Amino acid sequence: MNKEVRVRFAPSPTGALHIGGVRTALYNYLFAKKNQGKFLLRIEDTDQTRFVKGAEEYIKEALEWIGITPDESPWKEGPHGPYRQSERKPLYMQYAMDLVEKGHAYYAFDTSEELDAMRERLTAARVVSPQYNSITRTQMKNSLTLPEDEVKARLESGDPYVIRLKVPRKEEIRLNDMIRGWVMVHSNTLDDKVLMKSDGMPTYHLANIVDDHLMGITHVIRGEEWLPSAPIHVLLYRYLGWEDTMPQFAHLPLLLKPDGNGKLSKRDADKNGFPIFPMDWTDPRTGDFSQGFRQAGYFPDAFVNFLAFLGWNPGDNQEIFSMEELINAFSVERIGKSGTKFDINKAKWFNEQYLKAKSNHDLAQYLIEDLKQEGIEILQAKAEQIVAIMKERATFPSDLWKEGRFMLIAPTEFDEKVAAKKWNEDVVAVLTAYRDALDKFEGEFTPQSAKAMLESAAESQEIKLGKVMQAVRLAVTGVGAGPDLMEIFTIIGKDELIKRIDFALNTLEVKAK
Ligand code: GLU
Repeated sequence: MNKEVRVRFAPSPTGALHIGGVRTALYNYLFAKKNQGKFLLRIEDTDQTRFVKGAEEYIKEALEWIGITPDESPWKEGPHGPYRQSERKPLYMQYAMDLVEKGHAYYAFDTSEELDAMRERLTAARVVSPQYNSITRTQMKNSLTLPEDEVKARLESGDPYVIRLKVPRKEEIRLNDMIRGWVMVHSNTLDDKVLMKSDGMPTYHLANIVDDHLMGITHVIRGEEWLPSAPIHVLLYRYLGWEDTMPQFAHLPLLLKPDGNGKLSKRDADKNGFPIFPMDWTDPRTGDFSQGFRQAGYFPDAFVNFLAFLGWNPGDNQEIFSMEELINAFSVERIGKSGTKFDINKAKWFNEQYLKAKSNHDLAQYLIEDLKQEGIEILQAKAEQIVAIMKERATFPSDLWKEGRFMLIAPTEFDEKVAAKKWNEDVVAVLTAYRDALDKFEGEFTPQSAKAMLESAAESQEIKLGKVMQAVRLAVTGVGAGPDLMEIFTIIGKDELIKRIDFALNTLEVKAK
């Protein structure tokens, strides 16, 4: 029997989870569910200096909002807890010691001044990227260069130290990425990464590998920005003796700026006025507020559908996928290698499709709620009528009211451009005839009867209806475009319609022809 698939999403609580992180979480979830496996969430909070209050709660809520619940997490303990690295602190030292004993790691006592001096020396000697590595380590203060008794004395007296990985000088490190294929890196490009810090906390590299191993992780699906760390991770698996159970790696393509030039950033989002975080976020360090997809009016299922397509495609023309369908269709083979351009219009398109697919009954609740905020009460049936004709033109539920205000509130102003162009004597003649016909009308007021009356009003004035139609709309709605006008007339009702026509006739001035 094959081993159970176990994947993890391992965010650091250093700020709001941005869209790239949510995509990573989603792909992990889809992969786990597709393979009847488990999706874990582990909080990587070993870097206490970068800890941001509220970030962990934010991650939890964001995942709940999009409907992906981890099978094991700090909030749902499983057999491999705790799921917060800070709570696993006592666990890591033994692995660092094991590496030291095997000669794959060493103690380093260099002060930050000494490290700076080394970097300056190397920069002066025109070394492009000065590093603590297999060459420079020989000139530094560590257990490879200092006499054994001095090392012992320093450790006993509590001198601050870090433990560094001893990266081999000449070695080709290979890893088979599920998306990129074989990736080869020469060890002389790597530095001797710190594994344990002087505060007794492990670094990301050590904690990540130890935890992935102990938690039985089979596949590591994460952003491309972690690819440069992967060779270090391969070395760690090897040196810890875990190479035969090393997870398979899949590094997801970058999310690119809308123009494709470089990595998508919060600045792009701010500049172009689109969200980049799943939900509203106020940075507690700066007070900076960013609107989230959720509060901007995106439906969670539309957002998930949009996210799924940021780097993956099903290989056919289907675009609308429920979570269940995504799980069935998902495969790592269909994730692209190159970066994906972020296109907010695509997100809007998905939202429109999901909005249109909702029942009038459900959408009416949004409208009713928005109206309540303004102190307006409306009957369910009427709300459904409005929603039925507005939904074709709405991207977000809030558009139903924003764009459909005129259905319940008579315009007090008119679009000046349309008025200047279209308001004339012919319109006045047709509308005057129409209002009189409406006044006398006693039948059932339907889109059909409303239209028939308008047509005969135009005919009686020997004016082509097409020529005045936009101005008629302007008179009743205040604007020059919108959904079917006869539907609007019936929703507004005959009496209100007459009032509006009167107001327009009294307010709008006819310019000389
Ligand atoms: N803690 C890392 C992050 O913040 C995890 C990277 C990984 O998945 O290995 O994304």
